[in-house]
Amino acid sequence: MSIPSILLNNGVAIPQLGFGTYKLQPAQTRDLVLRAFEAGYRHVDTAQMYRNEREVGEAVAASGLPRAEVFVTSKLNNAFHAHDDALAAFDRSLEELGTGYLDLFLVHWPMPAVGRYTEAWAALEEILASGRARAIGVSNFQPAHLERVLETGTVAPAVNQVELHPYLRQDAVRAFDAAHGIVTEAWSPLGRGSVLGDPVIAEVARRHGVTPAQAVLRWHVQRGDVVFPKSATPARIVENADVFGFELPDADMSAIDGLNRDERTGSHPDTENRTDR
Ligand code: NAD
Repeated sequence: MSIPSILLNNGVAIPQLGFGTYKLQPAQTRDLVLRAFEAGYRHVDTAQMYRNEREVGEAVAASGLPRAEVFVTSKLNNAFHAHDDALAAFDRSLEELGTGYLDLFLVHWPMPAVGRYTEAWAALEEILASGRARAIGVSNFQPAHLERVLETGTVAPAVNQVELHPYLRQDAVRAFDAAHGIVTEAWSPLGRGSVLGDPVIAEVARRHGVTPAQAVLRWHVQRGDVVFPKSATPARIVENADVFGFELPDADMSAIDGLNRDERTGSHPDTENRTDR
């Protein structure tokens, strides 16, 4: 199975579908990431916050895949927005992962109450210039936060990774990202499972002989966003990557579009202010 890539604004290619690792316990992470590689995934999304970077790196090493064929993303923890803290935290990530460089490094949350995300961004620009990250971006940034980064920075973020699924379509964020050449990445693409029992999704899935998860992931792919569903179940890891052999017609895309309720499963970027993780 071959997963297509999308070009970021600096010419780096990112596989459109990857493997999410939030809430994977360190003890299970190596094996599950290896399962994902066997199923054809070549992109892994981790974060300092997930505390499994070391095991993700072990899986990359154990896979035997050439480093250049694997795309690894990690994210800066919320307590480290001060310039020197951000640089030191990045160094720790690289050491944990042992991958030599990162493909993508993100500011995990804007933390507007702390008010230092432009400082963190300046540190990420230095990391990019050093060649130790091939691309840099942000996560959970609202258009107002992105505007400040674009005003004060010299490099535009390559991606904005936000919560996005059929119950949270994120039209305004996606439109802002697109207008500025920023690729939107959809976290919790399955709404952490909440959208899978929806009768509209069940009906679309039935029509195409696929599972509800596959129908939802196909909807994301056809909208052009990057996704990285998470599962700790090997059969579902395989299932979630098998979304490139069918196509949803406009009517099915619209039916899933129509499910939007602006409903979040996670924190709101304007109010998330926890630095203890
Ligand atoms: P998700 O939407 O990928 O849902 C995962 C859950 O859905 C699983 O735990 C399982 O219960 C269910 N599931 C998965 N595949 C299934 C299948 N085929 N059939 C039935 N049920 C299935 O949620 P997520 O893990 O929150 O998000 C995916 C990834 O996004 C994370 O692992 C992480 O890498 C990233 N993420 C980023 C942020 C951020 O702030 N940047 C926040 C949350 C998640």
